[in-house]
Amino acid sequence: MQVENLTNDQLAELLVTDRYDEELRRRALALRRKIYGNKVFVRGLIEFTNYCKNNCYYCGLRCENKNLQRYRLTADEILQCADEGYALGFRTFVLQGGEDVYFTDEVLVPLVTELHHRHPDVAITLSVGERSRESYARLRQAGAERYLLRHETANPDHYARLHPVAQTLSNRKRCLQDLKELGYAVGSGFMVGSPFQTPMNLVEDIHFLQELQPAMIGIGPFLSHRDTPFWNEPNGDLQLTLRLIALLRIFFPHALIPATTALATLAENGRELGMAYGANVLMPNLTPAVVRKQYLLYDNKVTGGVEDAQSLEQLKERMAIDGWDIVVDRGDVQ
Ligand code: SAM
Ligand code: SF4
Repeated sequence: MQVENLTNDQLAELLVTDRYDEELRRRALALRRKIYGNKVFVRGLIEFTNYCKNNCYYCGLRCENKNLQRYRLTADEILQCADEGYALGFRTFVLQGGEDVYFTDEVLVPLVTELHHRHPDVAITLSVGERSRESYARLRQAGAERYLLRHETANPDHYARLHPVAQTLSNRKRCLQDLKELGYAVGSGFMVGSPFQTPMNLVEDIHFLQELQPAMIGIGPFLSHRDTPFWNEPNGDLQLTLRLIALLRIFFPHALIPATTALATLAENGRELGMAYGANVLMPNLTPAVVRKQYLLYDNKVTGGVEDAQSLEQLKERMAIDGWDIVVDRGDVQ
């Protein structure tokens, strides 16, 4: 089956059946092997603040969640995490956080500058939400090369059901456009099974990504959090997430696609399944253990074990069982 030639309706139908999963999986895997061989890239994730001014209805870090103990790492602590990651062999760091008003350009730009100065061979990736074009430009100049900002959903009505009115799809798209124009390698993506999502919404997501042509595509199942308006919504479906990973690999053969923590939370072997369906990136966690449990986007988020960057050797062994080879390099798009 040539998925590239399907109509929107046919693609939406394909998303709701498991009939073609094995075929999709095999094709995705063949493409991934052709371009990236057995290589799996690793990124060291530093979740440096769980303060957020936004109020996304799905996320445990939303500002209206008063049950969350907030933390913010100091610049020194962030640099220490990076030093530790560097010693462990990581050559990409992802600095991720809520939209914390403390991290103005005056704070973040010197931090990125120092990080770049200490480790010039490292690809600095930021994931700190929506900012002005000027801010993105300053951070780029300071040494940030990649930026992760999921579009979450490409349908404006759906977007409005997941976010308060102050947060708009048009601004998110503006950010992604600015980031691309400024020369960042951009990552985007969406949650699978977010409330009110329809198969046609997912088709729209694929089309949006085809326009954007991001270097990285992050998808993971929506997982509910008890202190959000979506506390009672069902979690995203494992098989649909895997099917979408395979489809994205087919549509974007060169993309860097992680097997996400959300996937590993939904299924104990989520990382392995993600790889089997075409993912090629893992993001072990470098966040200090004392605060890691407070970066709780959804309930039961996995921490510890191979999720720890410190357990890289263990992760390597686990991935090697399936023939995957975790490599230590920047893991640029090929
Ligand atoms: N604040 C930044 C942003 O929103 O881009 C970066 C951090 S945010 C926590 C990273 C991603 O987590 C979001 O893009 C969203 O897709 C995902 N996320 C948030 N809540 C989630 C949930 N309940 N289930 C699964 N993923 C979730
Ligand atoms: Fe904040 Fe990002 Fe969570 Fe939205 S998804 S509440 S912006 S941390």
